Amino acid sequence: AHLARIDAVDEKVHAFLHIDREGALAQARAVDAKKAAGEKLGPLAGVPLALKDIFTTEGMPTTVGSKILEGWIPPYDATLTKKLKAADVVILGKTNMDEFAMGSSTENSAYGPTGNPWDLTRIPGGSGGGSSAALASYEAPLAIGTDTGGSIRQPAAVTGTVGVKPTYGGVSRYGMVAFSSSLDQGGPCARTVLDAALLHEVIAGHDPMDSTSIDAPVPPVVEAARSGSVDGMRIGVVKQFAGEGYQAGVVQRFNESVELLKSLGATIVELDCPSFDLALSAYYLIAPSECSSNLARFDAMRYGLRVGDDGTRSAEDVTALTREAGFGDEVKRRVILGTYALSSGYYDAYYGSAQKVRTLITQDFEKAFEQVDVIVSPTTPTTAFPIGERADDPMAMYLADLCTIPTNLAGNSAMSLPCGLAPEDGLPVGLQIIAPAMKDDRLYKVGAAVE
Ligand code: GLN
Repeated sequence: AHLARIDAVDEKVHAFLHIDREGALAQARAVDAKKAAGEKLGPLAGVPLALKDIFTTEGMPTTVGSKILEGWIPPYDATLTKKLKAADVVILGKTNMDEFAMGSSTENSAYGPTGNPWDLTRIPGGSGGGSSAALASYEAPLAIGTDTGGSIRQPAAVTGTVGVKPTYGGVSRYGMVAFSSSLDQGGPCARTVLDAALLHEVIAGHDPMDSTSIDAPVPPVVEAARSGSVDGMRIGVVKQFAGEGYQAGVVQRFNESVELLKSLGATIVELDCPSFDLALSAYYLIAPSECSSNLARFDAMRYGLRVGDDGTRSAEDVTALTREAGFGDEVKRRVILGTYALSSGYYDAYYGSAQKVRTLITQDFEKAFEQVDVIVSPTTPTTAFPIGERADDPMAMYLADLCTIPTNLAGNSAMSLPCGLAPEDGLPVGLQIIAPAMKDDRLYKVGAAVE
């Protein structure tokens, strides 16, 4: 049924970069055979899923939305892919994304944009716009995203779906193509809070193949999603997540959500987190710096594309020609920025300062979580904007992540879930819930209560 739905709508939506029809049907049949033989089934047996094209899949293309990896077939599965298969999930294919997960609209994909199923002329968010669009268009009931600065939560918000950025280290990064390694985190996307929890439980957990993976039990997310409640909870509203640039309808729906939380028995606490105002600036030094280092491996020798290798050119020239042809503008912009910020003489002024700001943001969160159990905010300042509107204005694009980035810098967990439609444009608004590290269960408890 989901393959038929993809056939009917994906030409317009363009959520998928690769549809694995044969593989999906084979997996589904294998689940049937297991069932018929009376074998034990995995926890998500037979449930179809759309996988962001940033996770390696053995024998299936993995492009990260870039021409530089066009034609590359990974020889191994990411830990997350392995876990999905072990849970008997049916992987439908790989979803569209901003190249190397850099963007907020999926317009930076080398393979063309994805439409927002609510209005195909608008962006589905980014970088994981393919995954969120697949959910909103009913092409898949579950999807996987990655969130370096908001790429799970912002697409969830603008498509009226649920997305969770687990605690940094909660889901293995092994086999997830690196953008900014100290920020990147894979996580679950779904249409309901409970569905997201069921997927979260399957993909989370310690992995010796990822040195930053947390060696501790997975927070009890499914139990929390089943027992949603905010009674007696202290919920923070941060002064810095409001003001100029926020759409009136977004603010209205957010305020109504706060009233709802109160009426359900929560106590609302106003918080001041002054360092949050610096988060975007710190992020756009740290993320490009790490990206400039990570993307050095795309040298035309190891993977994918190779341009100009005609026997007359030096290796350096082939690398330069390949990168020129294989990387898009936003990737080049970030590699240049990052290389500059890390260069000797500038390191302390840029990268070093950004790391100090990162510590201040972490401290703001620590102080906040002495007073409250979770923090709520709008997920994004506006609803889905028209395709093309911000494509030539990187600063305007970066502002889409104003509310999501502090969480990545601190490494704690956050969810976006729908909280109604903005009256002025009828488009979905996202409510963000932020919890301390390894307290991801609180997201589900609160999310299930307000859903
Ligand atoms: N939009 C942000 C960026 O462009 C976040 C991307 C992400 O979370 N992968 O870097």
